Amino acid sequence: MNILIIAAHPDDEILGMGGTILKHTSHKDNVTIVYMATGVTARKASEDLKSREDKNLQNEILELRNDALKAAKLLNVKNVKFYDFPDNQMDSITLLKVVKAIEKEIKSVKPERIYTNHYGDLNVDHKIVSNATITACRPLKGPVKEILSFEVLSSTEWSYPYSFKPNYFVNIKKELPKKIDAMKMFKSEIREFPHPRSPENMNYVAGRWGSVSGFEAAEAFEIIRKIEE
Ligand SMILES: [Zn+2]
Repeated sequence: MNILIIAAHPDDEILGMGGTILKHTSHKDNVTIVYMATGVTARKASEDLKSREDKNLQNEILELRNDALKAAKLLNVKNVKFYDFPDNQMDSITLLKVVKAIEKEIKSVKPERIYTNHYGDLNVDHKIVSNATITACRPLKGPVKEILSFEVLSSTEWSYPYSFKPNYFVNIKKELPKKIDAMKMFKSEIREFPHPRSPENMNYVAGRWGSVSGFEAAEAFEIIRKIEE
């Protein structure tokens, strides 16, 4: 099966579905991850500081991409692509531009299933990527039969009102340790407990979704659309 994961930022997909990614690659599914925004937010700098800031920003972006490639390798994902949309500012560009980029990826990957961010997240880029994906997957003739959204710890559950309504669960008991190892590659994103992006909390969340699906550890998804031939 061709799988396309459209994530706003590097690490979103690990937090939301690292175990499920590993399951897909273990089943020899063809997995592609596309990141839309850089994942590093530009700070406001005065003019004389600007060029130094730009250089730092570029270095941080490269470092994050390197971390993302290491995490992908750990989960046996070979196809990874980075877009350059401005981090935490995807509301400053037209939705059409984001939709066009996603349409291009769908055309090349021909995915039967797409995973993306959740529409109700606190983070503006997550919302826009989710919306753009649904727009790019208008139910016209196309390969996409299923769209699922994943949660991102420290964004989905920090939104109000909480609107993530999972109705699809994947047993990740075997995959959970590697999911956490993959997250540890993101040195700038992983935090100490009680931050949601800590290894301890990743274990708790997996246990929580396991407790509502009958497994020791699970990942949860909200099905946006599923079409049966
Ligand atoms: Zn994110």
